[in-house]
Amino acid sequence: MPATTAPTAHHVPAAEELAALYAHAAHNYAPLPVVLAHGEGAWVTDTAGRRYLDALAGYSALNFGHRHPRLTAAAHEQLDRLTLVSRAFDHDRFAAFTGELAALCGKDAVLPMNTGAEAVETALKAARRWGHQRRGIPDGTARVVVAAGNFHGRTTTIVSFSTDPDARSGYGPYTPGFDVVPYGDLAALEAAIGDDTCAVLLEPIQGEGGVILPPEGYLRGVREACDRHGVLFLADEIQSGLGRTGRTFACEHEDVVPDVYILGKALGGGILPLSAIVADREVMDVFTPGSHGSTFGGNPLACVVGTEVVRMLSEGGWQPRAAALGARLEAGLAALPEGLLAGFRVRGLWAGLDVAGDRTGRQVCEALLSRGVLAKDTHGATIRLAPPLVITEDEIDLLVTTLAEALAD
Ligand SMILES: *Cc1c(COP(=O)(O)O)cnc(C)c1O
Repeated sequence: MPATTAPTAHHVPAAEELAALYAHAAHNYAPLPVVLAHGEGAWVTDTAGRRYLDALAGYSALNFGHRHPRLTAAAHEQLDRLTLVSRAFDHDRFAAFTGELAALCGKDAVLPMNTGAEAVETALKAARRWGHQRRGIPDGTARVVVAAGNFHGRTTTIVSFSTDPDARSGYGPYTPGFDVVPYGDLAALEAAIGDDTCAVLLEPIQGEGGVILPPEGYLRGVREACDRHGVLFLADEIQSGLGRTGRTFACEHEDVVPDVYILGKALGGGILPLSAIVADREVMDVFTPGSHGSTFGGNPLACVVGTEVVRMLSEGGWQPRAAALGARLEAGLAALPEGLLAGFRVRGLWAGLDVAGDRTGRQVCEALLSRGVLAKDTHGATIRLAPPLVITEDEIDLLVTTLAEALAD
């Protein structure tokens, strides 16, 4: 039974417990001091049995909550049949996944990979090849326009066009071929599109950047600019897609259809890594046997979980649920006492809150943790909320009242 009782006080792990966790691990994260052992729906439990409301949901990887019964049932069944074949052979779970995901996107074809970064890389490779083969851009010169403040993953090519020094510095030499323009500035974007540009790559809402919503009409304008100049619009919907914003895709808020959807995170149902690009044949068919691939991409276990995710979204109940719960969250935030927040942005069940005063987002997240709510800061003073779509109205209210307390601390 998904429990909805109040969270319990935070158990602060002993210093030795935390030190032991990292005795043999890289220090590439600075997690909040909580060690989780169990999860169900919107709730997680730590090693001492304390419960927390998960208001981050794995950065949207857990859109359907922890261990959604439909998703774990699909995974369990497949675990007893066939888990991996590599793409050297075909398997009987592939066509349903690719067919149903393509239909959800209104596109012809799917190329499955594993992580989000791999899907972004796949989209970039598709766009460069498309530019070369279909647009006559000389091989080795194709350029891609991207936005400042972007987050598209951690590979060397992707960090090459990051504007975040933490993500980028020390990792050179960087991959050339990217033009960075301010996010939301249509004129700058259009001016950056040149003869050798093959694509524009954007997040329809910048998640890691702090849930930054572009100005009204921006995505539509990007679509029109791409059409005018004959370049591809690659939409990184890894965090914004699959129900999070109250629509299947964030691009839908402006009735925009990109040329390539880049998907990940929630596609794997919070169970395993599964990503994909989805496009029409004209773009997808630049890939030929041997020209791209992945050992684990499109494996049977991932396909059944991904198919179940697509079916859940195709039924159409999650998107309005996210919209309605998001409206409740937004109303709650708007009713917070004056002075606690310097600003906030909400789209569906996704919010970026700017903390007022000189407290950091991290300090507020620690105050939330001590009250039994898990959230994550980003870029200093911003807190990101992305609770799973299974969260209830009462739990949204609990989140808002806990937030009010933590902010007033
Ligand atoms: C998380 C994320 C990625 C990278 O996904 P990984 O699975 O961590 O490689 C790329 N783009 C966006 C918008 C993301 O939120």
